[in-house]
Amino acid sequence: NLDFKFVKDNLALVIENCKARNSNADPARVAALYDEFTRLKQESDALRAARNENSAAMKGKLEPDARQALIARGQALKSDLESLEAALSAAEAALQLEGQRLPNLTHPDAPLGGEDAAAVLRTVGRQRDFVFDPRDHVAIGEALDLLDFEAAAEVSGSKFYYLKNAAALLELALVNYAMNKVVSRGFTPIMTPDLVKASVLEKCGFQPRADNTQVYSVEDSPLCLTGTAEVPLGGVYMDQVLLEKQLPIRMAAFGHCFRTEAGAAGAAGKGLYRVHQFSKVEMFVVCAPGQSDALHAELIDLEAEMFEELGLHFKVLDMPSGDLGAPAYRKFDVEAWMPGLGRYGEVSSASNCTDYQARRLNIRYRPSGGQQQQQQPGKAGKGGATAFCHTLNATACAVPRMIVAILENFQQEDGSVTIPKPLRPYLGGMEAILPP
Ligand code: AMP
Repeated sequence: NLDFKFVKDNLALVIENCKARNSNADPARVAALYDEFTRLKQESDALRAARNENSAAMKGKLEPDARQALIARGQALKSDLESLEAALSAAEAALQLEGQRLPNLTHPDAPLGGEDAAAVLRTVGRQRDFVFDPRDHVAIGEALDLLDFEAAAEVSGSKFYYLKNAAALLELALVNYAMNKVVSRGFTPIMTPDLVKASVLEKCGFQPRADNTQVYSVEDSPLCLTGTAEVPLGGVYMDQVLLEKQLPIRMAAFGHCFRTEAGAAGAAGKGLYRVHQFSKVEMFVVCAPGQSDALHAELIDLEAEMFEELGLHFKVLDMPSGDLGAPAYRKFDVEAWMPGLGRYGEVSSASNCTDYQARRLNIRYRPSGGQQQQQQPGKAGKGGATAFCHTLNATACAVPRMIVAILENFQQEDGSVTIPKPLRPYLGGMEAILPP
């Protein structure tokens, strides 16, 4: 969420931001609901104070008439307060509902516009020149007995797959390689639950109950299948107050991602590119507000380092306002060249969500200096004021698209696929996948 007082005090800016992000949220209504909420809050605070005063007055020695008058007033105040509190919680619910639709603010350096407005920040490597016609990963997978879409369609449906033989080992190798890399950079390795409460998904900015949702729900249960380990990682410090010296906290999880891909029918429908279930190593950072821009750069550098080590050709993109998910303040995507598909495809994404998720998840910290308290005033807690943390998430390795990129880029004329050197130790030294 945004800070609703900020919305009210900066209404023109927030309206402009919603336009730039193609959001149909209604900031003016949020500001009006916030006014209504604060008015009712002040009134109920005043009534509560009056009722306390009235109760205090009854403690003294009183004439029977005076006592009776105080009792009557106490009863009237109690009933007024009850109806005011009901109105207050209705106003708060309406404010939360409308307020949750507002997207995060946008980094001033992010390009404005739709998908085409993405700015290329960096290009690494170049498209390989093939002396033969490169095949796509589906054809390669079939020839090398690596993928089985038919059996998966029978067992689970379309957009599912079996990875077989070297492809099954390649998934494990990619996961191990990515996990070891990020752990070597100070990320705490975590295995997370793949089922999460709908309420936690909502706090992370997902909409499990919306029409056309990306999220699978479990019937007769508050649980959903998580679309990304960002959600269980975001929940680790939910409702906690951290000390500034603990920050930043770097975590990395291996998890399965489940996505309905509603609305994506037909888009890149072939093979492994867009599927309903995949494995991913995800990075997640909880930090102080002043740290998040630098950590965002650290995350994208770490992703780029891995893709470069694996020998891929890719572009790092600064994603435009119209393409940012609601929680993201800024997002860097990596698109790798996929010669069989004949185009670049997104292989990873790194977002700085500033305090948008932390406000919903209620992840706070207690600043050790005075300065940050002014930047992000939070509720006063035991031992001084607290402020909301910032959160970031980034893909270390989304397995299926890495397999697409590896099979398509490193295919050889004899039908084999060369294994990138950094993965070989995780594959018992295997240098190539050879035709059966
Ligand atoms: P996201 O969590 O949506 O930012 O996605 C992170 C990464 O997961 C993307 O960059 C893709 O590499 C991969 N990915 C996302 N959706 C799918 C999908 N349906 N099938 C396969 N890979 C996906």
